[in-house]
Amino acid sequence: MVQVNDNYQKLPGSYLFSTIAKKVAAFAEANPDKEVIRLGIGDVTQPLVPAVVAAMHRAVDEMADAATFHGYAPDLGYEFLRSVIAKQDYQDRGCDIQKDEIFVSDGAKSDSGNIQEIFSNDLKIAVTDPVYPVYVDSNVMAGRCGEYSAKEQTWSNVIYMPCTRENGFVPELPKETPGIIYLCFPNNPTGTTITKAQLQEWVDYANRTGAVIIYDAAYEAYITEPDVAHSIYECAGADTCAIEIRSFSKNAGFTGVRLGFTVVPKALVRGGVSLHAMWARRHGTKYNGAPYIIQRAGEAVYSKEGRAQLKEQVAFYMKNAAVIKEGLSAAGYEVYGGVNAPYIWLKTPGNMSSWEFFDDLLARANVVGTPGSGFGPSGEGYFRLTAFGSYENTKAALARIQAL
Ligand SMILES: *Cc1c(COP(=O)(O)O)cnc(C)c1O
Repeated sequence: MVQVNDNYQKLPGSYLFSTIAKKVAAFAEANPDKEVIRLGIGDVTQPLVPAVVAAMHRAVDEMADAATFHGYAPDLGYEFLRSVIAKQDYQDRGCDIQKDEIFVSDGAKSDSGNIQEIFSNDLKIAVTDPVYPVYVDSNVMAGRCGEYSAKEQTWSNVIYMPCTRENGFVPELPKETPGIIYLCFPNNPTGTTITKAQLQEWVDYANRTGAVIIYDAAYEAYITEPDVAHSIYECAGADTCAIEIRSFSKNAGFTGVRLGFTVVPKALVRGGVSLHAMWARRHGTKYNGAPYIIQRAGEAVYSKEGRAQLKEQVAFYMKNAAVIKEGLSAAGYEVYGGVNAPYIWLKTPGNMSSWEFFDDLLARANVVGTPGSGFGPSGEGYFRLTAFGSYENTKAALARIQAL
């Protein structure tokens, strides 16, 4: 008998989005006259900007001609893309990151799920609670998380760092030292972030203890406040303790296009071993490179026109965020996030559970959001709305909520 990887059997079913879909479908069937507005989606809705589309068309034409055709891409990604990333995302912000420290990939979900492979199975991970589920589930598959308690909704061998209104959504340094610390700022799902000075404390802690920080900066483009770091490498000493993961999904609408990258500094060494060399080996063995056409699309994101067009696209979503934030505040809700991220995290009124509020909002305002408890036990009593809808729908949804 072949034995399967039992760790997969430990994973609880991911019922969050399927339960939402079922509830919405049942409501729509029972109430065919009601128009449901969905503000639960974590996916972008605006089309690719013209500079990106033009670059893709040019690249397709190149692929159609033997003289300019491209086969396998280099393991790390094309130089034209890595050099523009190194310059604009890092060197222009004063971060000493070189192009050969950047690994181009098909997105941040795969990189944040795969990165744990280069670490020992004996170490313990630390995550914020609530959390983007990929960090924990990928470590469960590898057998690092112990046993799941359905009652507590936690794993026995994971360090949870609650982020709630009580601590201003700023995680505290763990008492027990983890091997890997996953941080995502600006944060999905809470939409909140921490200051550069607060991030520096994490960098100092990791350098002091030997832990490695996996920093997910997928929402970097949404930062509006000056004291928030766009990259962890803005913090002194981050190159000896942090890996940064970036995505083109939220800043450039590439959720269906697929492109991201991971930065592993050459100075990052543990147990005498270069993590850069390990990730290079892993990438070269298991990944055959992002498509040429898509890497050209990524390059266009950094062009003058691309930057201007995407600034407008991000501003479009952030206008929706402001509509939600201000609308909810005016209606008396306690609201967080929405300033440096396209997510609004609200406290459910009157001690309602996250799912009670979901049902109530659907029934009375016909608006769909995401129950905070689906992202971890500390998300109970909170609710997420996203700014990725259309302006008209966002306005209409808030008018309904205010009229309740
Ligand atoms: C959306 C998102 C990603 C994006 O991943 P891609 O695979 O690049 O689309 C990564 N991390 C977080 C926290 C996200 O919300």
